[in-house]
Amino acid sequence: MKIAIFPGDGIGPEVVEQARRVLAALSLPGLKLFEGDVGACAYRRHGHPLPAETLQMAKAADAVLLGAVGDPECDGLVRELRPEQAILGLRKELELFANLRPAKSFPNLEHLSALKPDIARSIDCLIVRELTGDVYFGEKGRDRNASGDVVGWDRMAYDASEVRRIAHIAFDAARGRKRRVLSVDKANVLETSRVWRETMIEVAEDYPKVTLAHMYVDNAAMQLVRDPAAIDVLVTGNLFGDILSDQASACVGSIGLMASASLGARKTEFGTFGLYEPIHGSAPDIAGQGLANPSATILSLAMLLRHSLGLESEASRIEAAVEETLNAGVLTRDLGGEASTREVGDAVLARL
Ligand code: ATP
Ligand code: MG
Repeated sequence: MKIAIFPGDGIGPEVVEQARRVLAALSLPGLKLFEGDVGACAYRRHGHPLPAETLQMAKAADAVLLGAVGDPECDGLVRELRPEQAILGLRKELELFANLRPAKSFPNLEHLSALKPDIARSIDCLIVRELTGDVYFGEKGRDRNASGDVVGWDRMAYDASEVRRIAHIAFDAARGRKRRVLSVDKANVLETSRVWRETMIEVAEDYPKVTLAHMYVDNAAMQLVRDPAAIDVLVTGNLFGDILSDQASACVGSIGLMASASLGARKTEFGTFGLYEPIHGSAPDIAGQGLANPSATILSLAMLLRHSLGLESEASRIEAAVEETLNAGVLTRDLGGEASTREVGDAVLARL
């Protein structure tokens, strides 16, 4: 079992440090850790935000745990050298086609949600977003129309094989949850969505114990705030997923609690290769002060153990320990408390 750890910039190293302590406490036999530079720190040390040796390290590993990248001091650099480009490079090179974001409310933190407390309390869903296709990657261009006006266009397309592989990710995830997949599309108007829907139905035949339902994206946006408890696994394309995953995060509340996984095409000995990171950025405003909430990164580690290393019970134990820590009121400033990054780490370790 090999994990590549890229702490990155800003609060990245601080939050990753706590995840590393949690990992060490599990004493997993045969685990090897590698550490690499990515982002602004990599640019400073090696002249590039995604050095070749970092990429090599990621490719040789079963999973990558990433802190955060980004540094306002790099804003003036040419595009290829900006820290954020490293993420795009990793996604492309590692073929990370599936983005998973669990959205789960935490006890006693409902007030952070944009929703009413009783609705916020009921959220426990997983958003599965396709990440490498759709209108973002289709041919794009500019023309003039008949009256000489400028026209911009972007081609939206999915082939069945792209839909099939994201469908399998969603159905596999649903098997370990409440066994419900909600596929979100716009099949009443888009041909892309009709291919999407047909393919979802085809893949569902491989999963007799999981139920599949379909919803148009406009209705899904509404149901996500009205009755989120009805949603277990929501799977959708790149564009709709971009919007719905941020919406789901706002329904839960704090950015410091939200984990994510980006799964690749490669299978490991124990699961699927993936890159795991908190959804928050490098938070330069609080970096180096011990104020950052490490929960999202620790929860990202739990996802790593589950999806890439097949360690479901260890993943669940970590999630329970984080939940109990929050429940006990050990909270960083973003959650209204006074605990430091390390104190939250200590509290999680104590509960493991
Ligand atoms: P990026 O472009 O890298 O996503 P951003 O500017 O959009 O960065 P963040 O870096 O995520 O956003 O920060 C947004 C706000 O949330 C900041 O005020 C930051 O301090 C806060 N924040 C982000 N992550 C955490 C965390 N783990 N703990 C506490 N506060 C956080
Ligand atoms: Mg951001």
